[in-house]
Amino acid sequence: MNGKEYVENVFENVEKRNAGEKEFLDAVKEVLFSLVPVLDKNPQFIKAGLLERITEPERVIYFRVPWVDDEGKVQVNRGFRVQYNSALGPYKGGLRFHPTVNQSIVKFLGFEQIFKNSLTGLPIGGGKGGSDFDPKGKSDNEVMRFCQAFMSELYKYIGPSEDVPAGDIGVGAREIGYMYGYYNKLKSSSEQGVLTGKGLNYGGSLGRTEATGYGLIYFTEEMLKDNGISLKDKTVVISGSGNVAIYAIKKATELGAKVITCSDSNGYIIDENGIDLEVVKEIKEVRRGRIKEYLDKVPGAKYVEGYRGIWNVKCDVAIPCATQGEINESSAQTLVKNGVIAVAEGANMPSTLDAINVFLNGKVLFGPAKAANAGGVACSALEMSQNSMRYSWTFDEVDSKLKDIMTNIYYNSKNAAVEYGYGNNIVAGANIAGFIKVATAMMAHGIV
Ligand code: NDP
Repeated sequence: MNGKEYVENVFENVEKRNAGEKEFLDAVKEVLFSLVPVLDKNPQFIKAGLLERITEPERVIYFRVPWVDDEGKVQVNRGFRVQYNSALGPYKGGLRFHPTVNQSIVKFLGFEQIFKNSLTGLPIGGGKGGSDFDPKGKSDNEVMRFCQAFMSELYKYIGPSEDVPAGDIGVGAREIGYMYGYYNKLKSSSEQGVLTGKGLNYGGSLGRTEATGYGLIYFTEEMLKDNGISLKDKTVVISGSGNVAIYAIKKATELGAKVITCSDSNGYIIDENGIDLEVVKEIKEVRRGRIKEYLDKVPGAKYVEGYRGIWNVKCDVAIPCATQGEINESSAQTLVKNGVIAVAEGANMPSTLDAINVFLNGKVLFGPAKAANAGGVACSALEMSQNSMRYSWTFDEVDSKLKDIMTNIYYNSKNAAVEYGYGNNIVAGANIAGFIKVATAMMAHGIV
């Protein structure tokens, strides 16, 4: 059986066994079909049934989370943890609290996480979890009671050497703090390494807040440099105004680029003089206001309602940092028509598969999320190292390790793409580089 037949066979079976799980099936399809040349070159992977094994989670934990709201009413949510693959180290990946969370979403995110974590070069396996609980509009006490109820089941399955969750959408420093406190109460211990994204005064890492945005720009800079282009003086369009967007704007500006946009789910700002980050941080981090308020401080800027129009703004580099699916085929066509040189994904899956094809066919340099936004989880792994050593690195030490990691991710993905005949296609390259490391470890471990 050749690589293509094997992939088709495995995928058909995955489709049958996971019917209806669209997000998960899309993610598996995207990865598996890019691996065909690797399988042709390594028939031992086929013989060892590697794809059948890597597409099946090692363990899926699904549990009831009952809690009491401020009115005394009992609420019941669903909790999930997918422990996908531990060939490289403890399962690692965030917890998402959002009404859309279901088994398909956590399996898709967990599957992607295997390869993203492998690309960081650090000893972490892949996992993901969460709940359909929505923290928006809940009181602090309700969030605390929910986090405690969630942890009262999850604690049985996690630990510094087993599974180390972190935050994701809806899970920030507040939720991590409540879950961390309750885990250690249940265990009568002080296991700092059980969660990452912790506060600085109880085991968090300097540089974690900035890591995804900074790492994204380090990756983008390297991708441009490798193609003889400098980020300096380039016009950059960034979407979003949350954690990833803010630190991407900061680093891109420091490196001499001009970032002229940012957005929230209501609309976007265009500031031809370059976005004033202090104004954005004051609105979003201090007042938790809307991006439209930027005009109160910078009256010369422009505000446009709606979020898709941001991709009509002419730029050299586009960096989506808001949410999944924000660049569709037509937005991608507009970007290409307007001469975009590079696109790097800060958010998870911001470009649809059709949009990615438009970029690749248009010869745009394209950094997929799996590679370009891996700085966050890489820094989480550095937090685990510091917790194990019971020691803290300085901001500059963490930042310089992050920069090395992002540079390596770019070149490992690029070299894999070239080696397997994909040229400059970093989407395929990142899948291949991430896969080979996990596959080699799985081969060494035997059938387990
Ligand atoms: P935040 O919640 O801090 O920020 C998200 C931002 O995007 C908010 O400003 C939000 O605005 C805005 N937004 C949401 N929907 C839209 C939309 N349709 N159009 C324009 N703006 C929108 O999240 P993060 O910055 O942490 O995460 C952003 C993305 O990056 C997510 O996909 C996340 O999974 C991914 N990611 C994050 C990592 C991290 O370390 N934080 C690591 C790796 C990936 P509003 O206020 O209106 O909701």
